[in-house]
Amino acid sequence: MPNMSLKKTYMPVQDPSKRNKNFDEVSLGYNEEQAVEEANRCLNCKNKPCSLKCPVKIDIPSFISKIRDKEYEKAYEIINKSSSLPAVCGRVCPQETQCEGGCVRSIKGQSVAIGRLERFVADWHNNKSQAKKKEIEKNNIKIAIIGSGPSGISCAADLAKNGFSVTIFEALHIAGGVLIYGIPEFRLPKKIVEKEIENLKSLGVEIKTNFVIGNSITIDELLNEENFKAVYICSGAGLPKFMNIEGENLNGVLSANEFLTRINLMKAYEKNSQTPIYRPKIVAVVGGGNVAMDAARCAKRLGAEEVYIIYRRSEEEMPARKEEIEHAKEEGIKLKLLCNPVKIHGDENFYVKSIECVEMMLSKEDETGRKKPIVKPNSNFFLDVDCVIISIGTSPNPLIKNTTPGLETKSWGGIVINEETGETSKKNVYAGGDAVTGSATVILAMEAGKVAAKSIIEKLKPKN
Ligand code: FAD
Ligand code: SF4
Repeated sequence: MPNMSLKKTYMPVQDPSKRNKNFDEVSLGYNEEQAVEEANRCLNCKNKPCSLKCPVKIDIPSFISKIRDKEYEKAYEIINKSSSLPAVCGRVCPQETQCEGGCVRSIKGQSVAIGRLERFVADWHNNKSQAKKKEIEKNNIKIAIIGSGPSGISCAADLAKNGFSVTIFEALHIAGGVLIYGIPEFRLPKKIVEKEIENLKSLGVEIKTNFVIGNSITIDELLNEENFKAVYICSGAGLPKFMNIEGENLNGVLSANEFLTRINLMKAYEKNSQTPIYRPKIVAVVGGGNVAMDAARCAKRLGAEEVYIIYRRSEEEMPARKEEIEHAKEEGIKLKLLCNPVKIHGDENFYVKSIECVEMMLSKEDETGRKKPIVKPNSNFFLDVDCVIISIGTSPNPLIKNTTPGLETKSWGGIVINEETGETSKKNVYAGGDAVTGSATVILAMEAGKVAAKSIIEKLKPKN
Protein backbone atom coordinates (compact mmCIF):
# COMPACT_ATOMS: atom_id res chain seq x y z
CA MET A 1 0.00 0.00 0.00
CA PRO A 2 1.46 3.41 -0.92
CA ASN A 3 1.86 6.02 1.78
CA MET A 4 -1.04 8.42 0.98
CA SER A 5 0.12 11.24 3.28
CA LEU A 6 -0.48 14.59 1.53
CA LYS A 7 2.77 15.97 2.93
CA LYS A 8 6.39 15.16 2.20
CA THR A 9 8.17 13.23 4.94
CA TYR A 10 9.82 15.86 7.14
CA MET A 11 13.53 16.42 6.57
CA PRO A 12 15.34 17.67 9.68
CA VAL A 13 17.01 21.10 9.46
CA GLN A 14 19.21 23.10 11.82
CA ASP A 15 17.32 25.52 14.06
CA PRO A 16 17.14 28.93 12.29
CA SER A 17 18.33 30.94 15.31
CA LYS A 18 21.46 28.75 15.56
CA ARG A 19 22.17 28.17 11.88
CA ASN A 20 22.20 31.89 11.00
CA LYS A 21 25.42 32.07 13.02
CA ASN A 22 27.25 29.10 11.48
CA PHE A 23 28.18 27.79 8.03
CA ASP A 24 27.20 24.14 8.69
CA GLU A 25 24.70 22.54 6.31
CA VAL A 26 21.14 23.75 6.96
CA SER A 27 19.23 20.66 5.76
CA LEU A 28 20.31 17.45 7.42
CA GLY A 29 18.97 14.86 4.94
CA TYR A 30 16.80 11.76 5.35
CA ASN A 31 17.87 8.66 7.26
CA GLU A 32 16.98 5.24 5.79
CA GLU A 33 13.64 5.02 7.57
CA GLN A 34 12.55 8.49 6.38
CA ALA A 35 13.73 7.77 2.81
CA VAL A 36 11.75 4.53 2.61
CA GLU A 37 8.68 6.25 4.10
CA GLU A 38 8.91 8.98 1.44
CA ALA A 39 9.64 6.48 -1.37
CA ASN A 40 6.35 4.80 -0.42
CA ARG A 41 4.50 7.99 -1.44
CA CYS A 42 5.50 7.38 -5.09
CA LEU A 43 2.74 5.82 -7.23
CA ASN A 44 5.19 4.47 -9.83
CA CYS A 45 3.26 6.18 -12.65
CA LYS A 46 3.66 4.36 -15.94
CA ASN A 47 3.97 7.56 -18.06
CA LYS A 48 6.63 9.05 -15.69
CA PRO A 49 5.51 12.72 -15.69
CA CYS A 50 8.29 13.53 -13.21
CA SER A 51 11.03 12.16 -15.51
CA LEU A 52 9.61 14.08 -18.48
CA LYS A 53 10.22 17.32 -16.57
CA CYS A 54 13.78 16.38 -15.55
CA PRO A 55 16.27 18.11 -17.92
CA VAL A 56 18.59 15.05 -17.87
CA LYS A 57 15.68 12.56 -17.90
CA ILE A 58 16.52 10.53 -14.78
CA ASP A 59 14.27 7.45 -14.53
CA ILE A 60 12.70 8.74 -11.32
CA PRO A 61 10.04 6.10 -10.53
CA SER A 62 12.62 3.32 -11.06
CA PHE A 63 15.19 4.77 -8.67
CA ILE A 64 12.48 5.48 -6.10
CA SER A 65 11.23 1.89 -6.33
CA LYS A 66 14.79 0.68 -5.56
CA ILE A 67 14.76 2.84 -2.40
CA ARG A 68 11.49 1.17 -1.42
CA ASP A 69 13.25 -2.20 -1.83
CA LYS A 70 16.25 -0.85 0.16
CA GLU A 71 18.50 -1.47 -2.85
CA TYR A 72 20.29 1.85 -2.58
CA GLU A 73 23.27 1.05 -4.82
CA LYS A 74 20.91 0.02 -7.60
CA ALA A 75 19.01 3.30 -7.08
CA TYR A 76 22.33 5.13 -7.45
CA GLU A 77 23.20 3.26 -10.66
CA ILE A 78 19.86 4.31 -12.20
CA ILE A 79 20.42 7.99 -11.33
CA ASN A 80 24.08 7.88 -12.38
CA LYS A 81 23.17 6.71 -15.90
CA SER A 82 21.71 10.20 -16.48
CA SER A 83 23.42 12.43 -13.90
CA SER A 84 27.04 12.62 -12.80
CA LEU A 85 26.28 15.00 -9.89
CA PRO A 86 23.36 13.53 -7.89
CA ALA A 87 24.57 14.68 -4.46
CA VAL A 88 24.77 18.23 -5.82
CA CYS A 89 21.47 18.19 -7.73
CA GLY A 90 19.63 16.62 -4.79
CA ARG A 91 20.62 19.73 -2.83
CA VAL A 92 20.43 22.67 -5.24
CA CYS A 93 18.13 21.86 -8.18
CA PRO A 94 14.90 23.90 -8.43
CA GLN A 95 12.86 20.68 -8.17
CA GLU A 96 9.59 22.57 -7.65
CA THR A 97 9.67 23.78 -11.27
CA GLN A 98 11.13 20.54 -12.69
CA CYS A 99 10.58 16.90 -11.62
CA GLU A 100 8.49 17.71 -8.54
CA GLY A 101 6.44 20.19 -10.60
CA GLY A 102 5.37 17.25 -12.79
CA CYS A 103 4.60 14.83 -9.94
CA VAL A 104 0.96 13.70 -9.85
CA ARG A 105 0.97 13.75 -6.04
CA SER A 106 1.21 17.55 -6.20
CA ILE A 107 -2.30 17.75 -7.74
CA LYS A 108 -3.69 17.09 -4.26
CA GLY A 109 -1.06 17.75 -1.60
CA GLN A 110 2.72 17.94 -1.85
CA SER A 111 4.76 16.21 -4.55
CA VAL A 112 7.00 13.28 -3.74
CA ALA A 113 10.26 14.73 -2.33
CA ILE A 114 12.30 13.62 -5.34
CA GLY A 115 15.23 15.94 -4.59
CA ARG A 116 15.55 14.74 -1.00
CA LEU A 117 15.44 11.11 -2.19
CA GLU A 118 18.11 11.78 -4.83
CA ARG A 119 20.29 13.37 -2.15
CA PHE A 120 19.74 10.37 0.17
CA VAL A 121 20.81 7.88 -2.52
CA ALA A 122 23.88 9.89 -3.54
CA ASP A 123 25.02 10.37 0.07
CA TRP A 124 24.46 6.67 0.77
CA HIS A 125 26.62 5.77 -2.25
CA ASN A 126 29.37 8.24 -1.34
CA ASN A 127 29.51 7.05 2.30
CA LYS A 128 28.79 3.33 2.09
CA SER A 129 29.17 1.94 -1.41
CA GLN A 130 31.56 -0.99 -1.91
CA ALA A 131 30.94 -1.08 -5.68
CA LYS A 132 34.06 -1.57 -7.82
CA LYS A 133 34.80 0.78 -10.73
CA LYS A 134 34.38 -0.76 -14.19
CA GLU A 135 37.47 -0.79 -16.46
CA ILE A 136 37.05 1.50 -19.48
CA GLU A 137 38.74 0.76 -22.80
CA LYS A 138 40.60 3.93 -23.91
CA ASN A 139 40.47 5.23 -27.50
CA ASN A 140 43.30 7.79 -26.93
CA ILE A 141 41.40 10.63 -28.61
CA LYS A 142 42.13 13.84 -26.71
CA ILE A 143 39.29 16.25 -25.81
CA ALA A 144 39.80 19.57 -23.99
CA ILE A 145 37.17 21.02 -21.67
CA ILE A 146 37.41 24.64 -20.55
CA GLY A 147 35.96 25.08 -17.08
CA SER A 148 35.31 22.58 -14.28
CA GLY A 149 31.77 23.61 -13.29
CA PRO A 150 28.77 21.27 -13.58
CA SER A 151 28.70 21.55 -17.38
CA GLY A 152 32.35 20.53 -17.72
CA ILE A 153 32.00 17.75 -15.14
CA SER A 154 28.95 16.31 -16.90
CA CYS A 155 30.54 16.46 -20.38
CA ALA A 156 33.84 15.01 -19.11
CA ALA A 157 32.12 12.11 -17.35
CA ASP A 158 30.18 11.04 -20.47
CA LEU A 159 33.25 11.33 -22.70
CA ALA A 160 35.51 9.44 -20.28
CA LYS A 161 32.94 6.64 -19.95
CA ASN A 162 33.20 6.34 -23.76
CA GLY A 163 36.99 5.95 -23.69
CA PHE A 164 38.08 9.52 -24.58
CA SER A 165 41.18 11.07 -22.94
CA VAL A 166 39.68 14.15 -21.32
CA THR A 167 41.59 17.12 -19.89
CA ILE A 168 39.73 19.87 -18.03
CA PHE A 169 41.47 23.26 -17.91
CA GLU A 170 40.35 25.35 -14.92
CA ALA A 171 41.33 28.98 -14.26
CA LEU A 172 40.96 28.77 -10.46
CA HIS A 173 43.14 26.75 -8.08
CA ILE A 174 40.28 24.39 -7.15
CA ALA A 175 37.91 22.52 -9.49
CA GLY A 176 34.11 22.76 -9.27
CA GLY A 177 33.14 26.16 -10.72
CA VAL A 178 30.24 27.90 -8.99
CA LEU A 179 29.67 24.79 -6.87
CA ILE A 180 32.95 25.63 -5.11
CA TYR A 181 33.30 29.41 -5.34
CA GLY A 182 29.65 30.55 -5.35
CA ILE A 183 27.19 28.30 -3.52
CA PRO A 184 27.87 28.50 0.23
CA GLU A 185 28.94 25.64 2.48
CA PHE A 186 25.63 25.74 4.40
CA ARG A 187 23.74 24.77 1.21
CA LEU A 188 26.33 22.59 -0.49
CA PRO A 189 29.19 21.33 1.69
CA LYS A 190 32.44 21.44 -0.25
CA LYS A 191 33.29 17.85 0.71
CA ILE A 192 30.32 16.79 -1.44
CA VAL A 193 31.72 18.60 -4.48
CA GLU A 194 35.23 17.27 -3.78
CA LYS A 195 33.82 13.72 -3.71
CA GLU A 196 32.12 14.29 -7.10
CA ILE A 197 35.43 15.59 -8.50
CA GLU A 198 37.19 12.47 -7.13
CA ASN A 199 34.57 10.29 -8.87
CA LEU A 200 35.37 12.14 -12.10
CA LYS A 201 39.11 11.66 -11.69
CA SER A 202 38.57 7.95 -11.06
CA LEU A 203 37.16 7.78 -14.62
CA GLY A 204 40.61 8.93 -15.80
CA VAL A 205 39.78 12.62 -16.36
CA GLU A 206 42.78 14.92 -15.88
CA ILE A 207 42.15 18.34 -14.29
CA LYS A 208 44.70 21.14 -14.80
CA THR A 209 43.97 23.97 -12.34
CA ASN A 210 45.46 27.51 -12.45
CA PHE A 211 45.19 27.28 -16.23
CA VAL A 212 43.48 30.23 -17.92
CA ILE A 213 42.55 29.46 -21.52
CA GLY A 214 43.15 32.62 -23.52
CA ASN A 215 46.16 33.51 -21.34
CA SER A 216 48.16 30.30 -20.80
CA ILE A 217 47.18 28.81 -24.16
CA THR A 218 44.51 29.54 -26.79
CA ILE A 219 41.81 27.28 -28.20
CA ASP A 220 43.52 27.32 -31.63
CA GLU A 221 46.77 26.16 -30.00
CA LEU A 222 44.94 23.33 -28.19
CA LEU A 223 43.51 22.13 -31.52
CA ASN A 224 46.46 22.78 -33.83
CA GLU A 225 49.51 22.21 -31.62
CA GLU A 226 48.41 20.04 -28.67
CA ASN A 227 46.52 17.41 -30.68
CA PHE A 228 43.11 17.92 -29.02
CA LYS A 229 40.46 16.75 -31.49
CA ALA A 230 37.63 18.80 -29.98
CA VAL A 231 37.15 21.52 -27.37
CA TYR A 232 34.09 22.08 -25.14
CA ILE A 233 33.83 25.63 -23.77
CA CYS A 234 31.91 25.81 -20.48
CA SER A 235 33.63 28.73 -18.83
CA GLY A 236 30.48 30.03 -17.11
CA ALA A 237 29.26 33.58 -16.68
CA GLY A 238 31.47 35.03 -13.96
CA LEU A 239 31.41 38.72 -14.88
CA PRO A 240 29.07 40.63 -12.52
CA LYS A 241 26.60 43.21 -13.83
CA PHE A 242 26.07 46.52 -12.06
CA MET A 243 23.09 48.88 -12.05
CA ASN A 244 24.98 51.95 -13.32
CA ILE A 245 23.43 54.21 -10.69
CA GLU A 246 25.13 57.02 -8.79
CA GLY A 247 27.13 55.86 -5.78
CA GLU A 248 28.05 52.38 -7.05
CA ASN A 249 31.75 53.24 -6.69
CA LEU A 250 31.47 53.99 -2.93
CA ASN A 251 33.32 51.94 -0.32
CA GLY A 252 31.00 49.20 0.86
CA VAL A 253 29.41 48.45 -2.53
CA LEU A 254 30.31 44.90 -3.58
CA SER A 255 29.34 42.44 -6.26
CA ALA A 256 27.76 39.29 -4.86
CA ASN A 257 30.35 37.27 -6.79
CA GLU A 258 33.28 38.88 -5.04
CA PHE A 259 31.62 38.68 -1.61
CA LEU A 260 30.73 34.99 -2.08
CA THR A 261 34.10 34.04 -3.58
CA ARG A 262 35.94 35.48 -0.57
CA ILE A 263 33.67 33.50 1.73
CA ASN A 264 33.34 30.18 -0.09
CA LEU A 265 36.56 29.74 -2.05
CA MET A 266 38.87 31.71 0.24
CA LYS A 267 37.11 30.62 3.49
CA ALA A 268 36.96 34.18 4.87
CA TYR A 269 34.41 33.09 7.50
CA GLU A 270 36.90 30.80 9.28
CA LYS A 271 38.40 32.17 12.47
CA ASN A 272 42.05 32.19 11.37
CA SER A 273 41.46 32.94 7.69
CA GLN A 274 43.93 35.32 6.00
CA THR A 275 41.26 36.46 3.50
CA PRO A 276 40.14 40.05 4.12
CA ILE A 277 36.35 40.44 4.22
CA TYR A 278 34.08 43.39 4.91
CA ARG A 279 31.80 42.60 7.90
CA PRO A 280 28.94 45.10 7.55
CA LYS A 281 26.24 45.81 10.15
CA ILE A 282 23.27 46.74 7.94
CA VAL A 283 23.23 45.30 4.45
CA ALA A 284 21.05 45.76 1.36
CA VAL A 285 21.32 42.96 -1.19
CA VAL A 286 19.87 43.94 -4.58
CA GLY A 287 18.31 41.06 -6.58
CA GLY A 288 15.92 38.14 -6.13
CA GLY A 289 17.79 35.04 -7.35
CA ASN A 290 19.72 32.27 -5.59
CA VAL A 291 22.85 34.43 -5.63
CA ALA A 292 21.07 37.23 -3.76
CA MET A 293 19.71 34.76 -1.17
CA ASP A 294 23.20 33.30 -0.67
CA ALA A 295 24.83 36.72 -0.30
CA ALA A 296 22.18 37.84 2.22
CA ARG A 297 22.44 34.65 4.30
CA CYS A 298 26.25 34.86 4.29
CA ALA A 299 26.14 38.50 5.43
CA LYS A 300 23.89 37.45 8.32
CA ARG A 301 26.26 34.64 9.27
CA LEU A 302 29.21 37.08 9.25
CA GLY A 303 27.40 39.04 11.98
CA ALA A 304 25.22 41.64 10.19
CA GLU A 305 22.38 42.87 12.44
CA GLU A 306 19.95 43.68 9.61
CA VAL A 307 19.93 42.25 6.10
CA TYR A 308 17.46 43.41 3.46
CA ILE A 309 16.80 41.90 0.05
CA ILE A 310 15.67 44.59 -2.37
CA TYR A 311 13.70 43.16 -5.30
CA ARG A 312 11.65 45.02 -7.89
CA ARG A 313 8.91 42.43 -8.36
CA SER A 314 6.90 40.46 -5.77
CA GLU A 315 7.92 37.30 -3.90
CA GLU A 316 6.00 35.16 -6.37
CA GLU A 317 8.28 36.27 -9.22
CA MET A 318 11.53 35.77 -7.31
CA PRO A 319 13.74 33.43 -9.37
CA ALA A 320 15.40 31.90 -6.27
CA ARG A 321 14.46 28.36 -5.16
CA LYS A 322 11.37 28.50 -2.95
CA GLU A 323 13.14 26.57 -0.18
CA GLU A 324 16.00 29.11 -0.08
CA ILE A 325 13.54 32.03 0.17
CA GLU A 326 11.79 30.28 3.08
CA HIS A 327 15.09 29.47 4.79
CA ALA A 328 16.31 33.07 4.33
CA LYS A 329 13.13 34.47 5.92
CA GLU A 330 13.37 32.01 8.83
CA GLU A 331 16.94 33.23 9.40
CA GLY A 332 15.77 36.84 9.79
CA ILE A 333 16.44 38.21 6.28
CA LYS A 334 13.89 40.93 5.46
CA LEU A 335 12.39 41.09 1.97
CA LYS A 336 11.81 44.62 0.64
CA LEU A 337 9.64 43.76 -2.35
CA LEU A 338 8.36 45.90 -5.21
CA CYS A 339 11.11 48.48 -4.87
CA ASN A 340 14.24 49.38 -6.79
CA PRO A 341 17.41 51.34 -5.92
CA VAL A 342 18.01 54.64 -7.72
CA LYS A 343 21.03 56.02 -5.83
CA ILE A 344 23.54 55.01 -3.16
CA HIS A 345 24.50 57.83 -0.80
CA GLY A 346 27.90 58.10 0.92
CA ASP A 347 29.39 59.90 3.93
CA GLU A 348 32.28 62.38 3.88
CA ASN A 349 34.79 59.48 3.68
CA PHE A 350 33.03 57.92 0.67
CA TYR A 351 31.59 55.02 2.67
CA VAL A 352 28.03 53.83 2.02
CA LYS A 353 25.53 55.64 4.29
CA SER A 354 22.14 54.84 2.76
CA ILE A 355 20.39 53.50 -0.29
CA GLU A 356 17.60 55.45 -1.99
CA CYS A 357 14.85 53.37 -3.59
CA VAL A 358 11.58 53.89 -5.41
CA GLU A 359 8.46 51.79 -4.99
CA MET A 360 7.34 49.71 -7.97
CA MET A 361 4.07 48.22 -9.16
CA LEU A 362 3.55 45.40 -11.64
CA SER A 363 1.95 45.69 -15.08
CA LYS A 364 -0.37 43.02 -16.48
CA GLU A 365 1.43 40.00 -17.95
CA ASP A 366 3.08 40.87 -21.29
CA GLU A 367 3.35 38.57 -24.33
CA THR A 368 6.20 36.64 -22.61
CA GLY A 369 3.94 36.02 -19.59
CA ARG A 370 6.03 38.28 -17.30
CA LYS A 371 4.75 41.24 -15.33
CA LYS A 372 6.79 44.37 -15.91
CA PRO A 373 7.84 46.49 -12.90
CA ILE A 374 6.79 50.15 -13.22
CA VAL A 375 7.99 53.00 -10.99
CA LYS A 376 5.37 54.53 -8.67
CA PRO A 377 5.70 58.31 -9.03
CA ASN A 378 7.01 60.27 -5.99
CA SER A 379 7.64 57.11 -3.97
CA ASN A 380 11.33 57.62 -3.07
CA PHE A 381 12.45 56.34 0.34
CA PHE A 382 15.79 55.77 2.12
CA LEU A 383 17.24 52.81 4.00
CA ASP A 384 20.26 53.43 6.24
CA VAL A 385 22.84 50.75 5.35
CA ASP A 386 26.63 50.42 5.49
CA CYS A 387 26.91 47.92 2.65
CA VAL A 388 25.20 47.26 -0.69
CA ILE A 389 25.71 43.90 -2.40
CA ILE A 390 24.73 43.87 -6.07
CA SER A 391 23.30 40.61 -7.35
CA ILE A 392 21.46 41.40 -10.56
CA GLY A 393 23.10 38.86 -12.86
CA THR A 394 26.34 38.02 -14.60
CA SER A 395 27.64 37.62 -18.14
CA PRO A 396 30.51 35.60 -19.66
CA ASN A 397 34.06 36.90 -19.30
CA PRO A 398 35.14 38.15 -22.80
CA LEU A 399 38.64 36.56 -22.63
CA ILE A 400 37.74 33.42 -24.60
CA LYS A 401 35.77 35.35 -27.22
CA ASN A 402 38.65 37.84 -27.63
CA THR A 403 41.26 35.11 -28.10
CA THR A 404 39.29 32.76 -30.36
CA PRO A 405 38.96 34.07 -33.93
CA GLY A 406 35.81 32.79 -35.66
CA LEU A 407 33.86 32.15 -32.44
CA GLU A 408 30.47 33.80 -32.86
CA THR A 409 28.93 35.41 -29.76
CA LYS A 410 25.82 37.44 -28.96
CA SER A 411 25.99 41.16 -28.10
CA TRP A 412 26.03 40.38 -24.34
CA GLY A 413 28.83 37.80 -24.74
CA GLY A 414 26.94 34.47 -24.80
CA ILE A 415 28.45 31.98 -27.26
CA VAL A 416 26.21 31.11 -30.22
CA ILE A 417 25.59 27.37 -30.63
CA ASN A 418 23.44 24.89 -32.47
CA GLU A 419 21.19 23.85 -29.58
CA GLU A 420 20.76 20.30 -30.84
CA THR A 421 24.49 19.54 -31.07
CA GLY A 422 26.25 22.18 -28.94
CA GLU A 423 28.47 23.06 -31.95
CA THR A 424 29.74 26.64 -32.22
CA SER A 425 30.60 28.58 -35.39
CA LYS A 426 34.13 27.13 -35.14
CA LYS A 427 34.95 23.63 -36.35
CA ASN A 428 35.33 21.03 -33.58
CA VAL A 429 34.56 23.62 -30.91
CA TYR A 430 31.45 23.08 -28.78
CA ALA A 431 29.99 25.19 -25.97
CA GLY A 432 27.32 25.03 -23.27
CA GLY A 433 26.23 26.00 -19.77
CA ASP A 434 26.22 29.58 -18.46
CA ALA A 435 28.79 30.61 -21.13
CA VAL A 436 25.97 30.16 -23.66
CA THR A 437 22.80 30.93 -21.69
CA GLY A 438 24.04 33.45 -19.13
CA SER A 439 23.48 32.64 -15.46
CA ALA A 440 21.03 29.68 -15.31
CA THR A 441 20.96 26.45 -13.29
CA VAL A 442 23.22 23.52 -12.45
CA ILE A 443 21.01 20.97 -14.17
CA LEU A 444 20.69 22.99 -17.39
CA ALA A 445 24.48 23.37 -17.47
CA MET A 446 24.78 19.60 -16.98
CA GLU A 447 22.27 18.92 -19.74
CA ALA A 448 24.30 21.10 -22.13
CA GLY A 449 27.43 19.13 -21.23
CA LYS A 450 25.64 15.89 -22.08
CA VAL A 451 24.41 17.27 -25.43
CA ALA A 452 27.96 18.26 -26.45
CA ALA A 453 29.39 14.93 -25.23
CA LYS A 454 26.83 13.03 -27.32
CA SER A 455 27.74 15.02 -30.46
CA ILE A 456 31.47 14.51 -29.90
CA ILE A 457 30.96 10.77 -29.33
CA GLU A 458 28.86 10.45 -32.51
CA LYS A 459 31.43 12.35 -34.55
CA LEU A 460 34.75 11.14 -33.16
CA LYS A 461 34.31 7.75 -31.43
CA PRO A 462 35.92 5.05 -33.61
CA LYS A 463 33.27 2.68 -35.00
CA ASN A 464 34.13 -0.97 -34.33
P1 FAD B 1 30.47 27.51 -13.82
O1 FAD B 1 29.93 26.73 -12.70
O2 FAD B 1 30.50 28.99 -13.70
O3 FAD B 1 31.94 26.98 -14.13
C1 FAD B 1 32.76 27.62 -15.08
C2 FAD B 1 34.21 27.39 -14.72
O4 FAD B 1 35.03 27.86 -15.80
C3 FAD B 1 34.67 28.17 -13.49
O5 FAD B 1 35.28 27.29 -12.58
C4 FAD B 1 35.66 29.19 -14.04
O6 FAD B 1 36.71 29.47 -13.12
C5 FAD B 1 36.19 28.47 -15.27
N1 FAD B 1 36.73 29.38 -16.28
C6 FAD B 1 36.24 30.58 -16.68
N2 FAD B 1 37.02 31.10 -17.64
C7 FAD B 1 38.03 30.23 -17.86
C8 FAD B 1 39.16 30.21 -18.72
N3 FAD B 1 39.40 31.21 -19.56
N4 FAD B 1 40.01 29.15 -18.66
C9 FAD B 1 39.77 28.12 -17.80
N5 FAD B 1 38.71 28.08 -16.96
C10 FAD B 1 37.85 29.12 -17.00
N6 FAD B 1 21.85 26.86 -9.80
C11 FAD B 1 20.97 25.95 -9.34
O7 FAD B 1 20.51 25.09 -10.10
N7 FAD B 1 20.57 25.94 -8.02
C12 FAD B 1 21.09 26.82 -7.13
O8 FAD B 1 20.72 26.78 -5.97
C13 FAD B 1 22.05 27.78 -7.58
N8 FAD B 1 22.61 28.66 -6.72
C14 FAD B 1 23.58 29.51 -7.17
C15 FAD B 1 24.23 30.33 -6.25
C16 FAD B 1 25.25 31.16 -6.67
C17 FAD B 1 25.94 32.03 -5.67
C18 FAD B 1 25.61 31.22 -8.05
C19 FAD B 1 26.71 32.15 -8.52
C20 FAD B 1 24.97 30.42 -8.96
C21 FAD B 1 23.96 29.55 -8.54
N9 FAD B 1 23.30 28.69 -9.42
C22 FAD B 1 22.40 27.77 -8.96
C23 FAD B 1 23.63 28.71 -10.87
C24 FAD B 1 24.57 27.57 -11.22
O9 FAD B 1 25.55 27.41 -10.23
C25 FAD B 1 25.20 27.81 -12.59
O10 FAD B 1 24.16 27.92 -13.53
C26 FAD B 1 26.13 26.67 -12.99
O11 FAD B 1 27.17 26.53 -12.06
C27 FAD B 1 26.71 26.90 -14.39
O12 FAD B 1 27.62 25.88 -14.65
P2 FAD B 1 28.79 26.03 -15.73
O13 FAD B 1 29.53 24.75 -15.68
O14 FAD B 1 28.22 26.50 -17.00
O15 FAD B 1 29.69 27.23 -15.19
FE1 SF4 C 1 6.24 8.92 -8.37
FE2 SF4 C 1 5.36 11.51 -8.62
FE3 SF4 C 1 6.91 10.40 -10.54
FE4 SF4 C 1 4.36 9.52 -10.20
S1 SF4 C 1 5.00 11.57 -10.86
S2 SF4 C 1 6.21 8.27 -10.54
S3 SF4 C 1 4.17 9.72 -7.97
S4 SF4 C 1 7.50 10.78 -8.39
